[in-house]
Parts: sequence; C-alpha cells; structure tokens
Amino acid sequence: MSIIHPVRLPFVLPVNAEKSVERFINVFIVTGEKVCIIDTGARGCQKGILDKLSELKKTPAEIEWVINTHEHPDHIGGNSFFEKHAGPWFACHEEAVRWIENPDIQYRERPIHGFYSLVKESARITRTLTDGDELDLGDGITLKVIYTPGHSSGSISLFFPVEGVLITGDAIPPVGGLPIYDDAEETRESLQKLAELSGVKTLYCAHSNRPFTGGEVEEVIAAGIDYLDFVESTLAEVMEELPSNAGQEEITREVLLQLDLDPPPVMPITVKSIMSHLK
Ligand SMILES: [Zn+2]
Repeated sequence: MSIIHPVRLPFVLPVNAEKSVERFINVFIVTGEKVCIIDTGARGCQKGILDKLSELKKTPAEIEWVINTHEHPDHIGGNSFFEKHAGPWFACHEEAVRWIENPDIQYRERPIHGFYSLVKESARITRTLTDGDELDLGDGITLKVIYTPGHSSGSISLFFPVEGVLITGDAIPPVGGLPIYDDAEETRESLQKLAELSGVKTLYCAHSNRPFTGGEVEEVIAAGIDYLDFVESTLAEVMEELPSNAGQEEITREVLLQLDLDPPPVMPITVKSIMSHLK
C-alpha cells in the first residue's frame, strides 16, 4: 500500500461580489515513520485532513512536517490550525516564507478576490527548503525537493524516488485553464526540469481531477509547455492587431478571449501572467 495519500478538499472561491465557484485542491498525507502533510488547503480544509488522518489511524500529534508547495492562499489556509493543534515543523522554499508567514502582506502585494475566505492566519516557517534537499521521513522514505519557480517564486515540487511519486502543486499550467504565473519563462524552465526527472510513475497536480500515470506524466508536462507557447504566440498576434498604445488590461482581455476564456477574467494576476511573456 502506498504511503502517500491524496486528500481531495472542496472549497468555495468567491470570484467577484456576486459570484462564487466551487473548487478543490489535492493535499497529501505521507505516512512514513514520520507523518508529513503536503499543503493544507484553503481555510477550513483542515477538517478533511483530520478525517483522513483518523482513517489512517494517525493523530495530529504525530505530524512531524507540514510542507507548503508554495505561498498561495489555497495551499496554506490550514497552516494555523496545525500550528496550534499539532506543532509540526513548517517548511517551504525561502522565496515563499514572507507571504506564507504574513497573509496580509501577500494580500496587499497580490490582491485576489475572496483572499480572506482562503486564508486568514498562517504559521511560522521553521525550515526553508532548497533545490536538491532531501528529507528523511523514516522507513526508508525520502522526499526530494525540486525548485520549480514560475507559477510563483516560491514554488517547489516534491519527489518520492522510491515510490516514483511526483507532487507539483501548481507548477504545471493546466491546458485551457486560466494562465496564472509570475513568470512565463521560469515556468517553462521548471517544466523542462520536471520533464528531465527520471523514475516518475505517478504525477499529482494540486487541482487536477486525478493523478497521471505512466506515459501521461510526460504528456501532461509537455502539454503545459505547449500551452505556454500557445499563450505566447496568441499574445504576439494580439499585439500586432491592437493599436500600439493599447494598455495591459486591454491586451490581456484580448488574449484571454482568444484563449476561449469568455468572459475574460481580467484581473491583476492574469494581467501579470500575460505580461510576463514580454519580459
Ligand atoms: Zn498557486
């Protein structure tokens, strides 16, 4: 039986004053000698994690590590609960520390609608992780850290070599989805890095319906790169057509429409994604 247990947690994301959408996130409980939780979901998601823990006959007191794949609110919403009720080590990439420890600062610098419904308080990070780090979870289970920035500057992927399981958080852009990344080129480089990783049998993305296995792993990563290329060529065409004084929001609106995202969700995070292709 695998020691890596995905937990699918539903949450509601208010997208504007009138509308909310139902979303979900996959977080993970790793039951080696030391229990490790990878991402804590949105605020309130701890309930689902606790239920799964008890199903696995584990208690919060046994949680040794909580690792955040990155700093975004839907991945850190349960941190404060586990800090108060379990007291594990909290770990993330050093680029993610500031925004994880200070949700208010994150909100100011990356405002998204409904932010505080996803996270209110978080936790103090007790260990920073860097590319190539290996964590020993006991029972011969090692977790390898792969720095995969682009979606955010603090994004890491986590690889369990013995199990062949790769957890990428939001590092791989979903084809046809909303382009959300800080830096298109860094995202591409991170995807190339993941593509070169050998021994991946199962790939878990934070918001995909199911894991990808076997040959699908390579396909999903390649499709992510193709999607970045497609966004980039679409942007080039749009810039060609629009007047030279067109603003960033107008350009983004047009690109999103061309990507069949209608009505086009023009907001600071999508403007940033599209404009990052021009860096
Ligand atoms: Zn994210």
